[in-house]
Amino acid sequence: MTLEGLPTLREALEAHGLWANKAFGQHFLLDLNITRKIARLAQVSAGAHVIEVGPGPGGLTRALLETGARVTAVERDERFRPLLDEISAASSSLNVIFADALKIDEAQLASGAPAHVVSNLPYNVGTPLLIKWLTGPWTPASLTLMFQREVADRITEGPGEDAYGRLAVIVQATCAAHRVMDAPARAFTPPPKVDSAVVRLEPRADRPSPERLTALQTVTAAAFGQRRKMLRSSLKVLGGDDLIAAAGLDPQARAEVVPVDGFLALADAWLARR
Ligand code: SAM
Repeated sequence: MTLEGLPTLREALEAHGLWANKAFGQHFLLDLNITRKIARLAQVSAGAHVIEVGPGPGGLTRALLETGARVTAVERDERFRPLLDEISAASSSLNVIFADALKIDEAQLASGAPAHVVSNLPYNVGTPLLIKWLTGPWTPASLTLMFQREVADRITEGPGEDAYGRLAVIVQATCAAHRVMDAPARAFTPPPKVDSAVVRLEPRADRPSPERLTALQTVTAAAFGQRRKMLRSSLKVLGGDDLIAAAGLDPQARAEVVPVDGFLALADAWLARR
């Protein structure tokens, strides 16, 4: 069988009596036009290796396979095994692993070669997975990820914008981040309560070292823990005015207006004092 010969996603779900399980954050994309658009935005070329988290019934998986990519799909819900087996039977480029994506070793899956992460992420574990990919020992070649819109804002907004905070600083210190597509709640089955958006992240060549990233997490936790307070007060425990002067920042500024470079300078100043 070829991918074109497969039943529609809706037919496949019905044939196996499957429904969405809220506990696993399941909201499916059954419209192949949408999944094909996400696969295009992922910019993966034929032969590239993609790690997809949460294939579910396999709509995005099918679109990724159509690009000629090699896909390793990691799914937690065993109920999807027969649907994913059908796709594997139609394409030799799919390898499905039933596991918790929070616990997998991506470096081992990628076997030392570059791999792209593409996923319509489960809402309940989207942010921890992102932090794992950005700060862990393995670096993806790129990430193309569907999030709730509010989380996409927290990833892409800049200083002075409402959703700018710790997550934006960590993401933007490690990657170039762009919101590349909006998806209304009605695009999903069943529709979630809120709209979603796709974010594309390209890891920077000059990513901070693990030590600098740990320091960045420390200073952003303190600064945004009290985001309406002046840095002088929120960073008192880490060194207050001296630390802020060493980073060349204004002690009267609030965390929400400090750019990513300012937080990196704070992380460096904090490391230098230890
Ligand atoms: N990719 C499918 C689509 O776009 O229609 C399903 C997306 S749905 C939002 C999220 C998927 O992630 C579900 O299939 C769910 O079972 C799976 N999932 C949830 N938690 C997971 C985890 N920790 N590890 C791997 N997969 C997970």
